[in-house]
Amino acid sequence: KAIDLTDFITKIEQKFSPAFHEKEMDFEVVCPEGVYIMADPIRLEQIIFNLLDNAIKYSPSGGKTILAVSSKKKDVSIKVRDNGKGIPEEDLPYILNRFYRVDKSRTRSLGGTGLGLAIVKELVLAHGGTISVKSKEGIGTEFELVFKGADSIENDTIS
Ligand code: ATP
Ligand code: MG
Repeated sequence: KAIDLTDFITKIEQKFSPAFHEKEMDFEVVCPEGVYIMADPIRLEQIIFNLLDNAIKYSPSGGKTILAVSSKKKDVSIKVRDNGKGIPEEDLPYILNRFYRVDKSRTRSLGGTGLGLAIVKELVLAHGGTISVKSKEGIGTEFELVFKGADSIENDTIS
C-alpha cells in the first residue's frame, strides 16, 4: 500500500520528539507534500527508529538531528543527519554488517548488539530501496535511503 510520507513523518516527529528532548537534542523534520512510497508502515517505522536511535545514542546532548524527505523525478530520498561523534573512515565500510560496532569497549556501556543497521539494510533492500552513509569523525553522520516513488492511489494489480 502506498504510504503518504507527509502523514507518516508527522507521526514519527510526534512519537520521537520526547526522546530527543530527554537528551536536550534538537529534532527537525522536513517533508514536502504529495510524496508516496510503497512500503510496510511497521517496517518503515522500524527503519527510521533504528536510525534515530543511533543519532541519539551517538550524539552528545545539545546535538541536532534532521530527518528530511525529498523527491527528485521518480526517486524519494529519506535522510537522517546528525552532528554527533561520527564514524571513523576505516569502520565505515563495515557499519551495515551485523554485530559490527565501532568501539567495542567504549560503546558497550551504551548497550546494543550491532544489529540495528543490519536490520535497516535488510528492510530497505526488501522494499527495493538503497542505503548509503557518509560520516566524518567529530562532525556527524548522514544516512540516505532512496525508494521509488508511488502514486497516491494503490494500483498494484492493474496493468
Ligand atoms: P543496536 O542498534 O543493535 O542496539 P548498535 O547501535 O551498536 O546496536 P547499529 O545500530 O547497527 O548497532 O550500529 C553499528 C555501529 O555503528 C554502532 O555501534 C556505532 O559504533 C556506529 N554508529 C551507528 N550509527 C551511528 C551514528 N549515527 N553516529 C555515530 N556512530 C554510529
Ligand atoms: Mg543502533
